[in-house]
Amino acid sequence: MSTLLIKNATVLVTMDDHRQEIQGGGIFARNGFIEQVSKTGELPEAADEVLDLSGHLILPGLVNCHHHFYQTLTRAIPAAQNANLFKWLKTLYPIWAKLTPEDIFISTKTALAELALSGCTTASDHLYLFPNGSRLDDEITAAQEMGVRIQASRGSMSLGESKGGLPPDSVVDSEEAILNDSQRLIERYHDPKPGAMVQIVLAPCSPFSVTGELMRQSAILAREHGLHLHTHLAETQDEEAFCQQQFGHKPVAYMQSLDWVGEDVWFAHSVHVGMEEIQVYKNTGCGVAHCPSSNMRLASGIAPVREYMQAGVKLGLGVDGSASNDGSHMLAEARQAMLLARLRAGIEGASLSSDGAPPILTAREALALATRGGADVLGRRDIGSLEAGKCADFIAINLNRLEFSGALHDPVAAVLFCSPVTVDYNFVAGKCIVREGNLTTLDIPTHIERHNAAARRLLEG
Ligand SMILES: [Zn+2]
Repeated sequence: MSTLLIKNATVLVTMDDHRQEIQGGGIFARNGFIEQVSKTGELPEAADEVLDLSGHLILPGLVNCHHHFYQTLTRAIPAAQNANLFKWLKTLYPIWAKLTPEDIFISTKTALAELALSGCTTASDHLYLFPNGSRLDDEITAAQEMGVRIQASRGSMSLGESKGGLPPDSVVDSEEAILNDSQRLIERYHDPKPGAMVQIVLAPCSPFSVTGELMRQSAILAREHGLHLHTHLAETQDEEAFCQQQFGHKPVAYMQSLDWVGEDVWFAHSVHVGMEEIQVYKNTGCGVAHCPSSNMRLASGIAPVREYMQAGVKLGLGVDGSASNDGSHMLAEARQAMLLARLRAGIEGASLSSDGAPPILTAREALALATRGGADVLGRRDIGSLEAGKCADFIAINLNRLEFSGALHDPVAAVLFCSPVTVDYNFVAGKCIVREGNLTTLDIPTHIERHNAAARRLLEG
């Protein structure tokens, strides 16, 4: 039995159904789960670990719904800096074909270090190529060492160039091997219980890199075990043209034809959708991982965030990448979501109200997408808000810093309106993985050397 008492936070943002913000708030947790969230005076007075967070803002841990950790090894590659999605992929596939198990391990730690320092406590990752003996196990081991909660997606590519797909044949696998490995990973790692540190997701990569049959078989396997399903969808106009030509459907209709819609499905991007497709998501329960930085970086378009929210579609945020962002900063991503939604509204002729009505996407709405929104998308009821019974996953930010000077009348909004900062504390399951701004689970200078050596080998080797 181990207990944790956090007290005296300047503001504690619960993100509960009433969106309570508690001045002078605190948390009492036992064995990784929250027992009480309230004003400090109402909490127990003692615990195994006690931390006074006077002068800090506390938020629920941020939830990242889409990422490719391995791509931290191939950021800012010159030939891919100014390419659209299909050209970007074709430039990078041959480099990714050289990845080793150690590269997957190293890059996972890099991405999770960035994520943890920027406030993330749960990350979904989508690993979809497994060259040279690489396995999802390499990523899971690294995540376990880092102490971040992970939804590890067993991605796949089976439709190589010779069969009309986009990736070269050298990076695709047989469908039998993909399904066998998926089964192995589910049995070895998937934990369905509240508080799970590792869950497995099945995630064929995209309509242009797998067959419809693999998508169907993946859905059957996932549903046998109560897993979630994930893929890229409606990211670009090129993808829409590909689906129309190959399958006679637009991407969302293609997913419907494969039984790939439901409460257990979430899609990355979903930029190019109309109102009819938004209704399909709403009616079937599909979630969306909105990735604003990546969509801007690749000039893919602007997702209809306000329309998703008005329709009641489950919506979370993903940093994507890391070769299409090229960073893993969750608070920065929430800020991009807020700003990009406003730009889209402006382009479409709306404007920020001048008479006191709510603006297009508020800072608090963007923070909700990054916390409870992401939890909904991943199908996790045990995270996303600070309430009794939920996981003790939270972050704290010292408000006494240059970036927030002049904004302390509303510290919650300051976190998104002002320049993105790194967090001072990050607790996952009641364990501190960032303390006073430093990661407790990784020696960063040594790790950077290791990461850069691996990146050099991929490019030059
Ligand atoms: Zn992606």
